[in-house]
Amino acid sequence: MLHIDGTEGEGGGQVLRTALTLSLLTGTPIHLDGIRGRRKNPGLQRQHLTCVQAATAIGAADVHGAAIGSTALTFAPQGIRAGSYTFSVGTAGSTTLVLQTVLPALLRANATSTVVINGGTHNPMAPPFDFVQRAYAPALQGMGANIELQLLRHGFYPVGGGMLSATIEPAYQLRPLQLLERRNPRPWRARVLMSKLPTEIGERELDHLLSRLSRTHLSFDDTALERVDAEDPANVLLLELPHDTLCEVLCAFGERGVPAEQLADRIATEALMLGSADVPVGPYLADQLLVPMALAGSGAFRSVRPTLHCTTNARLIERFLPVGFTFTEVANRPGTWQVDCSTRS
Ligand code: AMP
Repeated sequence: MLHIDGTEGEGGGQVLRTALTLSLLTGTPIHLDGIRGRRKNPGLQRQHLTCVQAATAIGAADVHGAAIGSTALTFAPQGIRAGSYTFSVGTAGSTTLVLQTVLPALLRANATSTVVINGGTHNPMAPPFDFVQRAYAPALQGMGANIELQLLRHGFYPVGGGMLSATIEPAYQLRPLQLLERRNPRPWRARVLMSKLPTEIGERELDHLLSRLSRTHLSFDDTALERVDAEDPANVLLLELPHDTLCEVLCAFGERGVPAEQLADRIATEALMLGSADVPVGPYLADQLLVPMALAGSGAFRSVRPTLHCTTNARLIERFLPVGFTFTEVANRPGTWQVDCSTRS
């Protein structure tokens, strides 16, 4: 039984999710305590509990401590079962984080699986559906995985009510990831998703974004305002930065009291920073690529300075699999970091 202290490093939900994923993949029983110990509301919340339930179903696992608020969990899987699964977060908690918990394991199942998840599809502090579809899944596809994603209904905070579906084909041995250059960057593309709010808000966001980026990266023809039918009022600004291999997706969520222009400014600044760093992988994708990289046994990518999510994830993965990660600032390219993964002998 591997003991994991949930307060280590970043001390959030990712420690739990990565531990569940790797327990499923390696068959290692785990005991976690201090779950989400560095968060204001520690313990399992709805989204985390759904991750546990999803991993339990797929791994036919023996579980203790799977309850809301629980800070300790024992999880002992008995294999990986392909199938058709439906999971419901029950709140606006992130469906994409539930998907990312079980997806790597289902790549090692012996048949195709379909997973439908109800809850939030566009949440602050989690990958929006578009990010998973355009950045995360294509990176895995480049490693030999075959994943088809569908957004069946948008779900926002606080009610949720969204739904995604994923079809995952087995890909037992992934190819090593190599993402060192951002080849052929293409024009950026901005979209606003609006639900139950005046269109004028989204128009102001796009106008302001164009005023910040039109001379360099974004043209009017590459902007779109999409009205979506969701339970909650919502306003999400998404900016895609495509290049030959994949596409980084940035997002900003409208909040009461935050002017549309401020939202556009925030995302423009983030995009210009990422654009000038000229790296193929952004800071969020970086932490999410470590598990697939470790499954391949080796690989390398370039990104910006690693976040605490990224380094915490690396150290946790090294406890389950015979791999080592290194993070090195690239000489003569300040702010550019290379992440290497190799098999330990
Ligand atoms: P945690 O805070 O431990 O629950 O982990 C949050 C996860 O969501 C991490 O894998 C982050 O990389 C990811 N994440 C947070 N915000 C974004 C974003 N804007 N775009 C993509 N991924 C995100």
